[in-house]
Amino acid sequence: DLHGKTALVTGSTSGIGLAIAKGLAAAGANIMLNGMGDAAAIEAERAGLEKDFGIKALFNGADLTKADQIAGLIKEIDDKLGGVDILVNNAGIQHVSPIEDFPPEKWDAIIGLNLTASFHTTRLTFAAMKAKKWGRVVNIASAHALVASEFKSAYVAAKHGLLGFTKTIALEGAQFGITANAICPGYVHTPLVDKQIPDTMKARGMTEEQVIKDVILAAQPTKQFVTVEDITALAVFLCSDAGKSINGAPLSIDGGWVAQ
Ligand code: NAD
Repeated sequence: DLHGKTALVTGSTSGIGLAIAKGLAAAGANIMLNGMGDAAAIEAERAGLEKDFGIKALFNGADLTKADQIAGLIKEIDDKLGGVDILVNNAGIQHVSPIEDFPPEKWDAIIGLNLTASFHTTRLTFAAMKAKKWGRVVNIASAHALVASEFKSAYVAAKHGLLGFTKTIALEGAQFGITANAICPGYVHTPLVDKQIPDTMKARGMTEEQVIKDVILAAQPTKQFVTVEDITALAVFLCSDAGKSINGAPLSIDGGWVAQ
């Protein structure tokens, strides 16, 4: 039961983040939504959380590649929702390209959002979690925190880095009732995956059907996408009392991908 707790879910206007925000709201937590997208659609989601679950939900559209905007986001939660108890670092982007053509600005953006933003959100919320002697940091990493695929150099580097960061935070919070873990999903059918299909077609010289069968589903022994509901259930469990001894762990949820 997460009543009285406040969760920040970064990148929660879409895909995995939106599903986790709903799952935490259903468990009783107040929610700060964050991300990009259509203002009216986001407002409908925000109002829906309050109506469906009887919690407080706010939205802040901070661009998490900007440290000053992250500070503004955390301050709004401190002022209006009593600080962050549950931090879900989920916002992420992908770019698929052979290394020799990889645009340096895409490298910087991916490291900035998928890795450095989590440093800033954690840095700015950790003292309050320590003072409350309770906290949960749930980092949405990837199977690519554990293994690589070609043409995803920045993403794989950022996700491996995020796992190392998670382990460090796990040690720093261990005596204070704080856990930090990395959820490592395989392929989930979200806009992030849809967007990389054309680039993967180009990079590998394949049709769309070949990319789905031979690249995406080839990686997953189940031959099925992981669902946002599967990931949400794991995230909510990590935030529960029963999750208190899971700390510093990479939690694979990938249909068996990294077992190979
Ligand atoms: P998505 O594209 O559906 O959602 C990404 C979210 O991040 C959106 O809300 C978007 O608005 C937000 N965002 C993008 N740039 C931002 C910025 N600069 N500042 C703030 N928010 C920003 O993607 P998703 O598939 O739901 O991915 C969520 C996380 O899960 C990512 O970290 C991704 O790496 C990870 N992941 C996804 C998969 C997959 O197969 N979809 C697999 C493993 C891990």
